[in-house]
This record gives sequence, C-alpha cells and structure tokens, in this order.
Amino acid sequence: MNTPRHFSSCVAEYDPNALPVSAAQEIVRQWALPRGRIEVERVRLFDALDRVLAKDVISPINVPFHDNSAMDGYAFDGSTLPDGSDDEPLRLTVAGTALAGQPFESRPLAAQCVRIMTGALIPPGCDTVVPQELVQRTGDAITFAAARIVRGANRRLAGEDLAQGQPALRQGRIVRASDLGLLASLGIGEVAVQRRLRVAFFSTGDELRSVGETLAPGCVYDSNRYTLFAMLRRMNVEPVDLGIVRDDRASLEQALRQATQDADVVISSGGVSVGDADFTRDLMNALGDVAFWKIAMRPGRPLAFGRLWSGKRPGEGESALFFGLPGNPVAVMATFYFIVREALLAMSGATPHALPLISATSSQPISKRAGRTEFQRGVARRDAAGRWHVVITGPQGSGVLSSMSEANCFIVLKHDAGNIDAGDSVEILPFDGLI
Ligand code: AMP
Ligand code: MG
Repeated sequence: MNTPRHFSSCVAEYDPNALPVSAAQEIVRQWALPRGRIEVERVRLFDALDRVLAKDVISPINVPFHDNSAMDGYAFDGSTLPDGSDDEPLRLTVAGTALAGQPFESRPLAAQCVRIMTGALIPPGCDTVVPQELVQRTGDAITFAAARIVRGANRRLAGEDLAQGQPALRQGRIVRASDLGLLASLGIGEVAVQRRLRVAFFSTGDELRSVGETLAPGCVYDSNRYTLFAMLRRMNVEPVDLGIVRDDRASLEQALRQATQDADVVISSGGVSVGDADFTRDLMNALGDVAFWKIAMRPGRPLAFGRLWSGKRPGEGESALFFGLPGNPVAVMATFYFIVREALLAMSGATPHALPLISATSSQPISKRAGRTEFQRGVARRDAAGRWHVVITGPQGSGVLSSMSEANCFIVLKHDAGNIDAGDSVEILPFDGLI
C-alpha cells in the first residue's frame, strides 16, 4: 500500500492556513481511491436499493421482448401505404383483435388490419399502427388519411429499450428506484453489489453529554453523532458508532487505532480547532499521514484530513482515511457534504457525480469575505417565471443548527467573491437526500 506522503506537496503550494476548498476537494479525490479489492455480495432486488453495482449487468433478453404497439389503434402492412403525394383515404377491413397478452396469431390478408391495444404483439405481416383517433370506423371497416401515417409508425421494436447482450447498468452505478424496476424487467432477481463501506465515527469533547444524561453547567448534548449517523445512513454506508471520546491524547489515540482497525473511513468531530489541532496533528503524524488540517471554508475552517494506520508504524496494519471535522454542528454538516461525501462515494466504488448547483438571485445583501468559500444556509423559492430567489436563514453562526433545519439549501459563495448585493446571482445547492 502506498503512503502518499508526496501529496503533502499539493498542500505546500498553498498557505496551509487557507487551503482553498477546491484544492482540498482535489486532494481528497486523489487520496480516496476505490478499495483495491472489490468485495462482492449477491443481494436480492429488494435489498439492492442504494447499493453500488460490482459488475456490469448484461441484459439477458430484449426489452421489449417482441415488437409491440405503442398505441391503441389498428395494425396493418405499411407497404400498402400509397406514395406521399396520394391523399386518398385508405380503407381496410378488421380481421380480428390483438390485446396485450393475447396475440392475434395469423397473418391478415391484403387490405385487412387488426384492431390492436397498446403493448399487444404486432401481428405477423404487419409493421405499422394507425392510432384509433385518426380512423373512422364503420362496421368492420376503417378508413383514414394515408398521408397522416408513415410506415413503421407507433411500433415499439424488440430490444428498443434494452438489447439482449448489452450492458443495462454499469459497474459503479448506485442502484436507484428506476434501476430496480429495470432489473425486474430483465427477469433478474439478484445482483452483485460491493460490500458497504464501513465508516467509524465519534465525537470528542469533555463538555459533551449523551442524550439521556443530565446537562451540567457548561455541557452540551452531543448532536454531531446524530447528524453524522443520519448522513451516513443516507449514503447507505455502514455506520460504526464509537461514542464520545474524552479530550486526552491517550483516549483519542485509542479511538483512532480502534476505528482504523474496524473501518475503511474514520470521522471524528471536535478537537481540531486552534490549540487542539496540534494535538490531533501530532497524533495523525504518529499514526499516518496528514494531508491538510485547515481549509479556507466557512463554516469548517479547521478540518484535518489524512490516512491512518492501525499498526505500530505508518504503513503497517490496516489503513483508513481520516476526516477530523470541526466540532461546531453546522460545520460538521457542511464539511461532510462538501468534503467527505465524494470521498465516501469514490471509496464505495461508486462513480461520483458532481453536486447539482443552480443559480439563484439573492434577495438581500450578504456579507462575505473574499479568500474563503462560504456555505451559508438559505431558503430558496421559485417565482412564477421559474426563477430561483434565495434569502439567508438569519444568524449564520456555525453552532446554529436550527439554521440547517430551517434552510432548504446551501448558498455557495465562491472563494474569490466579496460581499453580495441584493439582486446578485449566487449558486445554491438544494438539500436533496443527504440532509
Ligand atoms: P471544538 O471544535 O471541539 O472546539 O468544538 C467547537 C464547538 O462545537 C464547541 O462549542 C463545542 O462544544 C461544540 N461541539 C463539539 N462537539 C460537539 C458535538 N458532538 N455536539 C454538539 N456540539 C459540539
Ligand atoms: Mg472540543
């Protein structure tokens, strides 16, 4: 296993106290490689939702299985259509009916057609369907303007949706609702998925109390473990809860070693702000490699990132990526969303996809300092013309967790941007899924 100490050189190009978010994301991208060995599990379809496919799924059949009708109407042999210039009505007699699941099996004679319903097999000798709306029916005969229909119209071809032998879904795909339906449409009842990523997480702080304990003066309830748990669950990784760790070197070292042994990724919160950072950084250096520990981001400036090893020396034993997130509850969520999320996707073997930022007009001035990326909490709404407008959710302190609950988006203010005026365009990230 390589110990990518050389990546520290990426950091060396920047002021370590102001590593731009984009540079931090790039370093994380380079470190968070898919696990070397793919561990495959076979799961039934109902258990496959949100799992990462370990192999391409090859379609064993054509979907649709046979040519069939896309409309309710009449199927006939399109070669009998007159040339385009001829606007004579075409007259055909109805030889029978084809329903979905009840095919019309014989071949209609010349000047005959078959009444057909959507999804029914196209009868032998037929290749075109005229929709019933275009037809005038009198008794057993239909007439329609031939110029309004072209040969092959309203026919779904066998294999048009998925062709037999072709990949229907690719390795690295996160299985979504539509994919479950698609797999079922292929008659596939089980798929090979990658083992879920194991992510150990804990909170640090002598002031932290667990839900259920009494709150002494100066103490706060540990909320970060709950938000982290929730976001990890939403990403369908396997969360390993290591509880609260006291603010001393021995406890932290013990927690980090244990977590590195148990998990692919370790996430802590707290204990990386000024002062504490040295302590965390020393430990990271003792147990592995530090990539960075501060980024030009608000909230979330103190953020330690690196690789840890469970053995006696770095490079020995099991390894895990480590994210030492700040303690402030909003900073935990923002750093998770913008720094950790993509790493978890990549390490899970999933093909990471960029977050879908959209532009919105700021309805108010927003103070913003150039030289750091800010993730403010916003409430966005669409006007009647379909344009997005956004306001901030009041106090933006990184401890104000209610600002996250109130918000429906992050307002992403770019590194170089200064103050925003009312009417300026900003980018927003609607909370989808994760939060
Ligand atoms: P720290 O980064 O450890 O200095 O913590 C910064 C702030 O976040 C302090 O006010 C802490 O009390 C608070 N904090 C740290 N960890 C947690 C947690 N797990 N839940 C709630 N608040 C926390
Ligand atoms: Mg602390």
